[in-house]
Amino acid sequence: MYAPAGVRLSADLPVPAQMKAWVLGNPDELFLRDKPVPVPGRAEVLVRIDAVAICATDLEVIHGGSPASIQGGLPFNKNFTPGHEYMGTVAALGPEVDEFGIGERVSVEIHAGCGQCKRCRQGMYTSCLNYGNAAKGHRANGFTTDGGFAEYAINHINTLARVPATMGDAEATLVVTAGTSMYGLTELGGLVAGESVVVIGPGPIGLLAVAVAKALGASPVILTGTRNKRLAIGRELGADRVINIADENAVDVVKQLTGGIGADYVVECAGTEATVNQAIHMTNRGGKICLAAFPHAPVTIDLAHLVKNNIYVYGIRGEGRSATRRAMALMAEKRFDATKIHTHTFALADLPTALRYARERVDDAIKVVVTNRQAGIASAAAE
Ligand SMILES: [Zn+2]
Ligand SMILES: [Zn+2]
Repeated sequence: MYAPAGVRLSADLPVPAQMKAWVLGNPDELFLRDKPVPVPGRAEVLVRIDAVAICATDLEVIHGGSPASIQGGLPFNKNFTPGHEYMGTVAALGPEVDEFGIGERVSVEIHAGCGQCKRCRQGMYTSCLNYGNAAKGHRANGFTTDGGFAEYAINHINTLARVPATMGDAEATLVVTAGTSMYGLTELGGLVAGESVVVIGPGPIGLLAVAVAKALGASPVILTGTRNKRLAIGRELGADRVINIADENAVDVVKQLTGGIGADYVVECAGTEATVNQAIHMTNRGGKICLAAFPHAPVTIDLAHLVKNNIYVYGIRGEGRSATRRAMALMAEKRFDATKIHTHTFALADLPTALRYARERVDDAIKVVVTNRQAGIASAAAE
């Protein structure tokens, strides 16, 4: 029985001592194992995971290890559970926790900083200077600590956002993605009402960057990409104009749409040499670029153009400065419909199939969600 000292439980939500969790073996090898249900410490809760979305970064972790890091090295064969975009129900409270109650539905952000370093003190806990040091309180669930492809996980209270009753489980898993988009716009200055915003790359973060920018009043909001189906979803999420870069010159079109000067803000979510250079050339003098994708190799950029035009470039990691809670506020108000990017649902036991759908984009998959609830109905719908 699960009854750790100092941890508060409720008879309404019994917690077993053991849980099912996927663990990473060798690269691309996952096993469904029994693990002890983890124990929340001070300022932490135990979350019963109800749904978890698959992210492209999960696919990278499972295949290549990075950017996950366990005990200072690659995460293979360390009994590590990946998965980071989850939501669930608070099932137990660590000592002295009174900020949340058992039974509350919550979505999570990935990073809990150490809370004591210079960056954490600035709200930049995704860039914690004690990154990976769990003994100092840092957690990045699914990267440096156990994540969401399991029945339960530990979360710091600062990483939780309450899920309104009007929001379904799958939609709530998308809050951290919208939070990453929100963080990008936050780092660019946040005041985007009336400013022109271009989003490059209609992946999940790019599509929700369109939605968040539009909800914050940016105008026009322009989305570029190569896949017409994805661009059409971008239109539904609020893009005033989409540009298929295979058919049109993105820099020329952005300049036309912005009175010949270029965009105030560009959020680059594709991470290729070509698109990073497009971002540089479509930003106006004194404008700002957010780099939200990791290129896989060094890229050559037109640095002289950046310098001569006083263009600012911001790299972002994850979802700092409580951006996830701000994204949740917009989603709770139904300011945009993030479920437009949710395409498939599978049961937790079918994780390998779910990962294949996400990796191979089977049936135009965008966000594939794995659930611990209503799994039968959900997976039937996905077939
Ligand atoms: Zn992610
Ligand atoms: Zn820190």
